[in-house]
This record gives sequence, C-alpha cells and structure tokens, in this order.
Amino acid sequence: MRYSRYLIPTLREAPSDADNVSAVLMQRAGMIRKLAAGLYDWLPLGLRTLRKVERIVREEMDRIGGQEVALPVVQPSELWNETGRWKVYGKELLRIKDRKNADFCFAPTAEEVITDLVRRDVRSWRQLPAMFYQFGLKFRDEIRPRFGVMRAREFLMKDAYSFHADDEDAGRFYEVAYQAYQRVFERGGLRFKPVEAQAGAIGGSFSHEFMVLAETGEETIVACTQCSYGANVERAECLAPRPGAPEAPKPLEEVHTPNMGSVVEVSAHTGLPATKFLKTQLYLADGVPLMALVRGDHELNEPKLQTASGAALLERATDDQYRSIAGCDVGYAGPVHLPRWKDPKGQMVTVRVIADRSLEGLVNGLSGANRKDYHLANINAGRDFQPESYKDLRMAVPQDPCPRCAGLVEFTKGIEVGHTFKLGTKYSEKMNAVYLDAEQKSKVMIMGCYGIGVTRVVAAAIEQNHDDNGIIWPLALAPFAVEVIPIEVDDEAVREAANALYKSLWEKGVETLLDDRPERPGVRFKDADLIGIPLRVVISKKTLADREVEFKRRDQPKAERLKLDEALERLVDFAAPASSPPVAAPAAS
Ligand code: ATP
Ligand code: MG
Repeated sequence: MRYSRYLIPTLREAPSDADNVSAVLMQRAGMIRKLAAGLYDWLPLGLRTLRKVERIVREEMDRIGGQEVALPVVQPSELWNETGRWKVYGKELLRIKDRKNADFCFAPTAEEVITDLVRRDVRSWRQLPAMFYQFGLKFRDEIRPRFGVMRAREFLMKDAYSFHADDEDAGRFYEVAYQAYQRVFERGGLRFKPVEAQAGAIGGSFSHEFMVLAETGEETIVACTQCSYGANVERAECLAPRPGAPEAPKPLEEVHTPNMGSVVEVSAHTGLPATKFLKTQLYLADGVPLMALVRGDHELNEPKLQTASGAALLERATDDQYRSIAGCDVGYAGPVHLPRWKDPKGQMVTVRVIADRSLEGLVNGLSGANRKDYHLANINAGRDFQPESYKDLRMAVPQDPCPRCAGLVEFTKGIEVGHTFKLGTKYSEKMNAVYLDAEQKSKVMIMGCYGIGVTRVVAAAIEQNHDDNGIIWPLALAPFAVEVIPIEVDDEAVREAANALYKSLWEKGVETLLDDRPERPGVRFKDADLIGIPLRVVISKKTLADREVEFKRRDQPKAERLKLDEALERLVDFAAPASSPPVAAPAAS
C-alpha cells in the first residue's frame, strides 16, 4: 500500500473525549473515528488489524470443527419471549419496531437465534456434536460506553455455540474450545490469562474469562504466584485463613463507643486490630432479615452472599429497616442477642445469620451491641453467636491462600477479551431444542457458548503494547509487517530502490506500507512510530552509497544496517511468523 494513496489521517493531539490509551492511539493513528457515543467508523488501517484478529479466530474455530454461519442482526421478539429474556434483559437491549409495529431487537448476542436454527435443522444424534460460529455485529446499549471500542455500543463479536448429546460431551468440548482460545491469544502475541468466572467447586469451573493483561485493565484478576489458578476478583474463592496463636476466651464485655460506627474508629478507640472485628451488613433475603458477617479487614461479596442465602431476591436493608431489625443504627448492629423481628404483617421472625469462613473459631472478637453507642467485646464464635452456616462471603485480598495449592495469590489487572461458558440446557429446554437418540428417544441438547470481543481485542492489544510515541504492534496483529520509508522521495535512485523492495516484499507475501509522501522525514518517522508497524526500513542516498538500507524494529531502540542484497530475505524471514500455521483437517467437533 502506498501511504500517499491510503487514508491514514493521523492526529498530533488526542481527541478531548478519548478516555484511555487505546482510544487515544486508535484515533491518533487514524484507525477509527467516533461517530456518536459508542459508535465508531473503522478506517482502512484499523480494519486491517481487525481482520487479522478475525482471521486468527476463524482459523482456530475451523480447526476445532466449527461451522461458520451468519445470523441476522435484527431478531424477532418472539424468540426472546420464549426464553423470557425479552423481559429480563433490560435497557442494554435495543428494541425496535418494524412498519407493522412488530417488536424486534438488535442482536446483543444470539443464543435464541442459533437455538431456533438448530432445533429446526438438527434432529438426530448422528448430527451431534455440532458447533456453529459467526462474526456478527452486536449492539448493547451500555449505560456508560467508554474507552473507545473497548466498551462500545456496537462491536464485532465472534460468537460460537455448541450442541451436544450429553453432559459429558459438552464437558469434553469445553476443554477443546478452551484450548482453541489459548491458541488464539498466543498467536496474537498477547500476554493473557484465562481466569475462572464462576466460583466453582474445587475441580473446575465451567466459565472462564480470557484476560489480556494490562495495567490499565478494568478487571481485577486474582492470580496464584505458584500455580496457574486465576479468577476474576468478584468470583475468586476465599479459604479460611490459617489459624492464629491460641487464645483463652474472655467474658463478654460492653464497650462505650459514642459516635463510632466504623471499624476504623472503634479500632482506634479499643486498640483492637480490624481482624478481630465482625463487620455486619443487614439484608432482606426474600423478605426475611439476614445478617451477613465478615471480618473487619474484609469486604462482603454480595453475589456470594446471594448464593449462600439461597434467596431469589436479596435487598440491602434501609436505615429504617436497620432500626426495626437490630434496634440501632448501621454501625452498631451485631450477631449477639439479636432480637426477633416483627415483620410488616406482624409476624415474629428470627433473623438469619450467615458468617464468612474466616470467622469460624473466632476468639474474643468485637461487634456492635445492637444498642446505640455500644459495642460488645470478647465475642466468641459458638459461645455467643451461632450462624446458620459459615460460607465464603468475602472479596479476595492480596496474599490470601490460593484455593488450589499452598501458594498465595496476588492481584493484577486485565481486559476481558473472551468468555467461554457451559450453558447446559438453559436455552435448549425452554426452546425445546431436542434430538432423537440411537433408541429414537427425544432428548434435550446440552449447549456451550464461546464469545470473543474481536474489536475489543484490537484495543486490548494496544493497551498492552505501546509507548509514549505510539502503538507497538505484535507482528501477528499489525496492519502491515513492514514500512518502507524513502528519505529523498525526489531522488530517482532512492525512489526506485524503495519501489523495488516494496514490490518484492508484496510478491513474497509480506504486507508492506510504502511511505512515499512528500513530507519531511521527521514527520514520517513520527507517523511510523504512531501507527506502530513492527519493522521500519529506511532507504536514503546515504545508505544506498554503501549499498545498504537501515532497518529498525518498533519494539527496539536501535536501528541497524543491512546489505541491500540481503534485505529482502531478512525481511521475509522477519515477517514469516505472522502467516498462518497450517490448518489440519478439522477434527469432528
Ligand atoms: P463485560 O463484562 O465487559 O460487559 P460481558 O460479560 O457483557 O462483558 P459477554 O456477553 O461475555 O460480555 O460477551 C463476549 C465478549 O464480547 C466479551 O468477552 C467482550 O470481549 C466483548 N464485549 C462485551 N461487551 C462489549 C462492549 N460493550 N464493547 C466491546 N466488546 C464487548
Ligand atoms: Mg456486559
């Protein structure tokens, strides 16, 4: 491609509303332009990288036997009503009406549509397993679109759905898809980590998020320093801490704590460390009061509490409800001598108490006394309060024990670029996606789904690979592998040498950009750094006098000289890893 004939409108300044590195660099490099909140035009340079990601993903989906389809972006509400998601999906679902006033939505995902296709056309056990995938535009009316294409409203997703005769096969294929995802991100040249996305029982979880590691990532990842365990912080499993030194239980004692509702204040007043505190939080679990207890230095994790409580609806108690349940304000409630509660119908109900695992065996702890301005000291678990259960209720913290090995965990940041999920019969049952087994018995299919945010991968790659001057593309995702810059564009020898190299590189399959613009070299070097092509080759009168060219890798500081007659071969070698590895005949999925 000749730069002079190609639209790469680079910008010296960052657009004022670009709110992270990749949004700034993608716009400055002329890859994208913003049309409206969360809507972006992809320009030629940006699209080339997007297609690189797409190609890698497609090859890896084909390799595991995926069958590519293309499903409509406008979906009828009937299908969404069958699964009940028309009601529960909320405002992220962009609902539209056609001229007959019929309801449709713009696809945010495609479980309903693919399940509908499969229930009509896949009938026999002989056709299973089957995996279908597509590259489809998705629209989600995100509350706060931000970070450029990273959290956009319209984005390109690779969504894949697999159908199986039984659970065992779905489990087997989950592993196959997981490996394919690993290969996608490895081939993309990205540092990444698959993390558990569901607090599963030991032995494995059936949902994983694939995170590109970057300090600027939105997601916090809990990762073991010794084994491969990783989890999203919201889902990371927390074990009970190792027991401390033994201590003799002391008698309960009231402590006067006027106007001290927080752990910090009471800790300063009593001299007790936060690890001795029982932090309480009141909820209504399906209308029944529930007190959750975590240690003073920990934070409660509401989704974990919801699972532990078994409640369909978990609501935080209001200040008024606090007073009516515990008889005091927030900050003074505690599990000892909890009164029974008169519910709105006048019935007396017992307040449920669930405690985090780290409070089991607590000796001489401190909590609110259910009385204004008082706390209780020397609370002993079992003696002074007995929760209905000790469960994992808290958020993980750095240095927690790893739930899989004897190591400790640390925190890092990442960007979620992919998600694998074992769905089971969630959709197939409601939509009656069944097949006939070998005995002609009708059975419900088991499903899995697997998404990759193709547009988000582009932005994540930049978040991970850039410097002050611009993007540093991993070779596999670069819009071009090589950029040739002739210094004196008016000099015939220079121009011819550059043209010849440019042509030969394309003939050898190396995607090359020739910056033939009549701009000062400084301007072109700046642009080259900004758009981040992995290898820059400079040809000038000076280098030609030595029958040489200068080349510089974008990820390394120093330029080197190369003999003109060796240049082609060296450049072809450099670019070779970016081409696709051979794809063997796809396995039966
Ligand atoms: P998030 O938690 O980031 O909102 P999600 O759980 O809603 O993601 P999925 O429904 O699992 O995402 O979608 C599959 C993939 O699509 C995600 O892993 C992500 O890479 C991508 N994705 C989701 N929402 C967006 C968005 N608003 N903009 C760009 N990519 C997105
Ligand atoms: Mg989302």
